[in-house]
Amino acid sequence: MTVAIIVHGGAGGWNVSEERLGQALQACADATKAGRELLMNGGSALDAVELAVTILEDCPVLDAGRGSYPNAEGDVEMDALIMDGRDLSMGAIAAIQRVRHPISLARRVMHESGHNFLVGKGADAFADRIAFPRCPVEELLVDDDRKLIQHDQDEVPTAALGDTVGAVAIDLFGNLAAATSTGGTRNKRAGRVGDSPLVGSGAYADNWTAAVSATGYGEALMRVVISKRVCDFVGTGLSARSACESAIRVLEERTGGTGGLIAVDARGRVGWAFNTQAMPYSYAVGDESVVIGH
Ligand code: ASP
Repeated sequence: MTVAIIVHGGAGGWNVSEERLGQALQACADATKAGRELLMNGGSALDAVELAVTILEDCPVLDAGRGSYPNAEGDVEMDALIMDGRDLSMGAIAAIQRVRHPISLARRVMHESGHNFLVGKGADAFADRIAFPRCPVEELLVDDDRKLIQHDQDEVPTAALGDTVGAVAIDLFGNLAAATSTGGTRNKRAGRVGDSPLVGSGAYADNWTAAVSATGYGEALMRVVISKRVCDFVGTGLSARSACESAIRVLEERTGGTGGLIAVDARGRVGWAFNTQAMPYSYAVGDESVVIGH
């Protein structure tokens, strides 16, 4: 099987400086290259998406791990989901604080917690029990006027978009995996959880159809269970690309929401679609050159 990986840096307005957009695209390209190398060396799709997302979580202009938006109370609460298309196993965490790599904690939830999804105090206790690396909140809050704006706890949260990150891949053995990580939307209420850690919404992976990661206005994306919807479209015979486009149409027509998707189907075809102004993405198929777009 030819390997393939596609990553995104969040669907949104991206009305930012060239330099900032350049940093996001560079992070996408770096994540794609690292994931592709791992896949070419016989590594699993699951390892490749985790690795790619950790690279994106380190990028300060992206809304995941370091660079996450603080919530209305000034705390950083992050959500992440990882899924293995071989047996539909998954790990997720929500509203987790003080970790640099939420996706790796989600992976540990999948393998070591005996559960699929941990939140709040329990997620914290699990992280501490497995000695998962913690960090001060200052390490996650980057010195950035755009992110550290004065928040108003009484302000009604708007349909803000973040710069959530995600990756999907197919390995040499035809196995699929998906991963999504986010700091959530700007000025969100404490305790708000979006689509990203919800199975079928923020991501889905099934060897029978496709692996998908979503981004955009979580309050809308979760209502159409958008990532699973892409898999279902692939199941009816659509390519990854057409399935992403169809799911974005459903999102728009059923909720008026905005967002973006990346996918790789079981035949190794990559696809993406978005109805926002931009969505930084990057992909590589086999040893062909890395493609970058937004
Ligand atoms: N979907 C994410 C959320 O609602 C935000 C984003 O993708 O930018 O938390």
